[in-house]
Amino acid sequence: MISPLIFSLLILSQAQESSPSPAESKPTVCIIGSGIGGSSLAHFLRHYYNSEEAKRPRIQIFERNSVVGGRMATVNVAKESFEAGASILHPKNYHALNFTKYLNLKLKNPSLSKSKDSLSLGIWNGKKFILKTFNVNSQNPLLRKMVSLANSLLIFVRYGFSILKMDDFVESAVGKFLKYYESVETRPVFESVDGMLKWAGLYNFTKRSLLEELTDAGLSYSLIQELVTVITRINYGQSACMSGLAGAVSLAGSGGGLWSIEGGNWQMAAGLINRSDVALHLHEEIKSISHLTEYYELNSTTGNTFKCEVTAIATPLDEENIQFTPPISIPERKLQHTHATFVRGLLDPAYFGLGDLSEIPDLVGTIEDPELPFSSISILKKNSDKDITYKIFSRKPMADTLLYSIFSERKETIRIDWGAYPHYQAPELFAPFILDGQHLYYVNAFENAASTMETSAVAAENVARLILSRFFGDDSLNFSSLKNSSPAGEGLHLDL
Ligand SMILES: Cc1cc2nc3c(=O)[nH]c(=O)nc-3n(C[C@H](O)[C@H](O)[C@H](O)COP(=O)(O)OP(=O)(O)OC[C@H]3O[C@@H](n4cnc5c(N)ncnc54)[C@H](O)[C@@H]3O)c2cc1C
Repeated sequence: MISPLIFSLLILSQAQESSPSPAESKPTVCIIGSGIGGSSLAHFLRHYYNSEEAKRPRIQIFERNSVVGGRMATVNVAKESFEAGASILHPKNYHALNFTKYLNLKLKNPSLSKSKDSLSLGIWNGKKFILKTFNVNSQNPLLRKMVSLANSLLIFVRYGFSILKMDDFVESAVGKFLKYYESVETRPVFESVDGMLKWAGLYNFTKRSLLEELTDAGLSYSLIQELVTVITRINYGQSACMSGLAGAVSLAGSGGGLWSIEGGNWQMAAGLINRSDVALHLHEEIKSISHLTEYYELNSTTGNTFKCEVTAIATPLDEENIQFTPPISIPERKLQHTHATFVRGLLDPAYFGLGDLSEIPDLVGTIEDPELPFSSISILKKNSDKDITYKIFSRKPMADTLLYSIFSERKETIRIDWGAYPHYQAPELFAPFILDGQHLYYVNAFENAASTMETSAVAAENVARLILSRFFGDDSLNFSSLKNSSPAGEGLHLDL
């Protein structure tokens, strides 16, 4: 079913296509991609522009799909909607919190559906669970608290003080990242990702692996090979050999206070586009970008041509087939493919060498072993004791024969192959934010540092300021709105 929001976006798109703006002479900023990167770029361009109305840019967004949101998308299983891609946000993701408030969206704490205290975790090595926390199905708060304490003790006994060192490492990285919310008076506009990372003190994390960083931080080998690896495999489909900054972001995504948006995170993109006076072109895949003397000419696979004074790419270029004239050169980067498989049915306890379904932990994580066919299996929803919705992450597709061996019953199976995020390998090399030294920008250059909804928004905010200052001049920047927009400011700490 088409949602009312998408419907209004479609109308907006069609209306603006058929009745061109009277101010044809206004410069046009074209954005390729309607994910959180492209939509927040449009938002920040509007929010920060403070110059003559006559020069206020037209903004066009091109999206090859029929819906906006990109890697923020939902899937329906058993008539219920679940996040299929980007699912959780960190409590200090201030841009996302701001968008949620600005768009009147509703926050959801995913762990509330089943209290975090009572979620059980198992680490599976292919033969047995090397760690299994206790499960509690009782609603008795005292009992739940006791089980939660017992689980903390279990983890402490296995990993000792290393677990505290891991928290310190994550806190330190998150603390540095918060610099990106400082007022613009103290925060420069960055022309390169390297410069942006160096300024926040995060650059060195991208030059070494997570394994090296955590070993230096004093974490034990077993904690890194087990719990840390489980987390990096779930969040990025990669091992602890991934680069340090993305690894730290991944660990931050396993802490408390995580949240999402009721009804789907994609609504951030839809809402931002809807409120930013944008001409949205759905089903419009850009296949070539040519720099002619005064402007860029964009050609789409549907045969349409667009003229843009400024062009911003808000999608990873790694698996793209866009033809650039003159050609551009960026460091080679591979995307990590993550296969998300949604199954409505019942796991088979025999696969895990167990006697009863209730003995299988709510979240089964895995260690790094090429023989293991999946990274994680988690319960999304218990419809009843005999009807459960699961999400599986794996690096390769989950073939039917494999699913037959893992599940005793299967009513519904949905498979999605995501070109999910970069395959992180230190030392990371970064593409420039400005691809041609002119007005061709690349928001996802920052994705080699870490791939999240928030990092896309942080990169987009910087690119918006870069476009305004370079193309429209420093006077075009609305400093008062920049100051007031500091998301770490007062009144923005929403109750999670
Ligand atoms: C399985 C999975 C789980 C994840 N979990 C989390 C999580 O829990 N929390 C989190 O913060 N992040 C998570 N992420 C990462 C997060 O989804 C991304 O970092 C973020 O959504 C990237 O947004 P973007 O706008 O930069 O790119 P995208 O969302 O990929 O948007 C790019 C858009 O551009 C469009 N496009 C591409 N090429 C063209 C073209 N030639 N012409 C026109 N349109 C084009 C695409 O269709 C797409 O809509 C996850 C990702 C995946 C895949």
